[in-house]
Amino acid sequence: MQTLNSHNAIFGKIFPRSLFRTMTTEMHKETLGFQAEVRQILDLMIHSLYSNKEIFLRELISNASDAADKLRFEALTDDALFEGDSDLAIKIHFDKQARTITVSDNGVGMSRSEVVDHIGTIANSGTRQFLASLTGDRAQDLRLIGQFGVGFYSTFIVADKVTLFTRRAGLGPEHGVRWESDGKGQYTLETVERAARGTDVVLHLRDDEDEFLDSHRLRHIVRKYSDHITLPIRMRKEGEKETAEEVVNSASALWARPRTEVTEQEYEEFYKHVAHDFEPPLAHVHSRVEGKHEYTSLLYVPRRAPFDLWDRDKRHGVKLYVRRVFIMDDAEQLLPPYLRFVRGVVDSSDLPLNVSREILQHSKDIDVMRAGSVKKILDLLGDLAESNREKYDIFWKEFGRVLKEGVVDDPANRDRIAGLLRFSSTHGDADTQDVSLHDYVSRMKDGQDRIFYVTAETFSAAKNSPHLEIFRKKGVEVLLMHDRIDEWMVTHVTEFEGRKLQAVTKGDLDLGALESIEDKEQLQKAETEFKGLSDRIKNVLGELVTDVRITHRLISSPACLVTGEHDISVNMERMLKAAGQTGLSVKPVLEINPTHPLVLRMGSVSDSERFADWSRLLFDQALLSEGGQLDDPAGFVQRLNQLLEVLAAA
Ligand code: ADP
Ligand code: MG
Repeated sequence: MQTLNSHNAIFGKIFPRSLFRTMTTEMHKETLGFQAEVRQILDLMIHSLYSNKEIFLRELISNASDAADKLRFEALTDDALFEGDSDLAIKIHFDKQARTITVSDNGVGMSRSEVVDHIGTIANSGTRQFLASLTGDRAQDLRLIGQFGVGFYSTFIVADKVTLFTRRAGLGPEHGVRWESDGKGQYTLETVERAARGTDVVLHLRDDEDEFLDSHRLRHIVRKYSDHITLPIRMRKEGEKETAEEVVNSASALWARPRTEVTEQEYEEFYKHVAHDFEPPLAHVHSRVEGKHEYTSLLYVPRRAPFDLWDRDKRHGVKLYVRRVFIMDDAEQLLPPYLRFVRGVVDSSDLPLNVSREILQHSKDIDVMRAGSVKKILDLLGDLAESNREKYDIFWKEFGRVLKEGVVDDPANRDRIAGLLRFSSTHGDADTQDVSLHDYVSRMKDGQDRIFYVTAETFSAAKNSPHLEIFRKKGVEVLLMHDRIDEWMVTHVTEFEGRKLQAVTKGDLDLGALESIEDKEQLQKAETEFKGLSDRIKNVLGELVTDVRITHRLISSPACLVTGEHDISVNMERMLKAAGQTGLSVKPVLEINPTHPLVLRMGSVSDSERFADWSRLLFDQALLSEGGQLDDPAGFVQRLNQLLEVLAAA
């Protein structure tokens, strides 16, 4: 299709600016293609939501309400944007003859470029990730689409043509925009005269959708999904010819109502609106705080992580209201980053209406609300963990790794957060993260005074770590940590319920009362007996290790690496190196198993070259089993093969 951009450039040179504007106003109609992603999503969407098509109205009302919120927010600093009309409302109108439904608002509206950016494009950074996560399996993809915010496009479930008229607040009437599409692949865009600020969306219904051309039906849908919208939603009174209108929703802030008067269904619909989510939430907490500081909060934990969960800057979490007037979205001061998955509203009675982001940064009121909201969420999660394990599991899978950031970011709540963490452990030996520190402590053996854990790159590396051999033998549980963030986390959670956390890969193995006197005597005996051997190995390995010593932590492996109590672990070193840190070198201790045949054999190897090879082999395989990287893999393979040859010949 022809676009006139190049013509504009020429006109701009020839005609004065004002003239140029009127000319483009008349001429500038263009047809544009939807972004490929939009097309793909539209197609999926129409199929996935067909059984629930009435939600198109909820989505349009939700957008109209957002548009009103935006206008109010902008008008805080520029009252002229109201153009003398601050009575914000939504209107729904239908026309049986023309077979159209129109949803209008006098909110902020859109400029021409905003229409292109917001309606023709899915600007969401998650789009590509979302599309990448599509499986090609239709049933599964349809489920996926349910969690993706595609509100406006839901109109095409019931309409085969949608026309949108809009004008941005603050722009003159000559800057109206007309957008139209059949939802198939293209849309037209035209600049038109439009006196009214805000947006009209006109749905031209598909042939078989006449059921929506019905006043009862529409009112019912509004009440069902959008009763909580704080703007009045108006419809023409039934039976009256003229324009008498009535408000069809209760238009009261849901969070301002007493808990007992809000139904689960209402909580759920409100969530879908504030969170732009299609799925119901996992849990919510609604509370009013009175006294010195007064505020109400209604906070939700979603059922599914958004695509941009890992983007710590991208947050559309909690909306701030002041005495029921919307102030701003994603007020980042309201919750710490580790709770960025939480959605909902906080409504303050104390803040001034013209509060800005700058003011928020230094506001005592905000600090109080933030601390209170954090507590509410942690309480909610604690309750969920106790009363509904199934839901807590869902929560943990989706958001557990984000919550872990809390033990680092929020020292004041560290113990409570630590109590909410879940791990895999040798208790079940399966990769289900469902062991809490409290569970662990309650299962500790007589004489055990520490919480043992191992960190590794993957679950199987953790599970098969040679360091666990002695613990398995003694039936002592070890937590298996294999999230990247765990290494970092355990440097902050050093204790739980009075028990110290202890890495099994660090320091001298001290099992305390778990060891019998015989165990200790045996170890001492072995130490003396193998002193010569460990010294020889140490000599050969030189700079690679700080020491070589006899251990009793190994049962079936010949050797393992241990770092000092206060050193970083081998796993941490690997991670830091992978992240580009240089100049690190933690020298480990090589511990050898005096009962292993290979170690026993080494005692009688007199050929010094062969002894050096075997020593190096011990070191390298210990490093490998730790997930470490060999400096010289080819050398390792060569030495291994030589050893195998010797064994094959024997
Ligand atoms: P979402 O509401 O989740 O952002 P939608 O598809 O519902 O997604 O809407 C896309 C965008 O289009 C909105 O974010 C908004 O910028 C714009 N938009 C839609 N409807 C309106 C409206 N009535 N007034 C102003 N802007 C709107
Ligand atoms: Mg929307």
